[in-house]
Amino acid sequence: MYILEKAPAKINLSLDVLYKRPDQYHEVEMVMTTVDLSDRVEMFWLEEQTIVIESENRFVPNDERNLAYRAAKLLQETYKVKAGVKIKIDKQIPVAAGLAGGSSDAAAVLRGLNQLWNLKLSVERLAELGSEIGSDVSFCVYNSTALAKGRGEKITELPPPPKCWVILAKPSQGVSTQSVYKSLKLDEMEHPNTKAMIDAIYRSDYEDMCARLQNVLESVTLPKNPEVQQIKQQMVDSGADAVLMSGSGPTVFGLVKHESRAMRLYNSLRGFCEEVFVVRMLGVNQTLD
Ligand code: ATP
Repeated sequence: MYILEKAPAKINLSLDVLYKRPDQYHEVEMVMTTVDLSDRVEMFWLEEQTIVIESENRFVPNDERNLAYRAAKLLQETYKVKAGVKIKIDKQIPVAAGLAGGSSDAAAVLRGLNQLWNLKLSVERLAELGSEIGSDVSFCVYNSTALAKGRGEKITELPPPPKCWVILAKPSQGVSTQSVYKSLKLDEMEHPNTKAMIDAIYRSDYEDMCARLQNVLESVTLPKNPEVQQIKQQMVDSGADAVLMSGSGPTVFGLVKHESRAMRLYNSLRGFCEEVFVVRMLGVNQTLD
């Protein structure tokens, strides 16, 4: 028996950090959506109770440090599953990029094993389990557009964003999410208007969505990584309607309406960056253009 799940990357249209909680986690408010740059996660039934990870990517661990492994282990232990699984990950999403690649793989494993092991769990339950693995996993279980609150695990689904092209560019240097949060100076930063972003999405107002893009983590990552700032500037100079860093970075994304402009951005960034992708947001509103 075999299941194939796509594990799409996510971008943050808006990312706010409200305060540090007594449990040391940060209370966040993030508007997130998925894009059609996906890892392929294949799951093969094993009779014996083992979990095997296979991936060709040298940055991805093939053992219990892999978030996909942890997702399988959590299901196996929680529901006393006697079977095992071999998980093959074909990595397309850049690693440690602010695109939640590992979280999305873990979410794909939760969805896939729910079928393969016939667990009959609801999406809500899978998202709840996901939050034990990592803060972005709950969002990735839903695979949609959503507001994420709490430490990222409280999900309210939103309508699809207005139709546009997304150009993703990943600078060479990876960024550690933990160290970015550690360096954050909460009282010195300008906070995004999350409600206005949500309103823009409800109205399918592309211009207003562009105007509301904001990520407080830029205040830490940009000064430390001049390459990220350079790529942002290059995107603006090449005609992007709006530009933002995703998550803790370093990936930058630019939004444009038309395909010809998307290709212009792609070509102008190829000289700066090895990893550039032209993608669509998933589940976008096709009717309201
Ligand atoms: P986020 O946006 O959620 O902070 P990210 O995109 O910055 O995540 P990931 O690509 O998820 O970062 O990887 C972060 C680290 O997690 C990597 O250094 C890697 O060693 C580890 N990791 C564990 N499992 C995976 C996986 N399945 N895919 C990628 N990285 C993984």
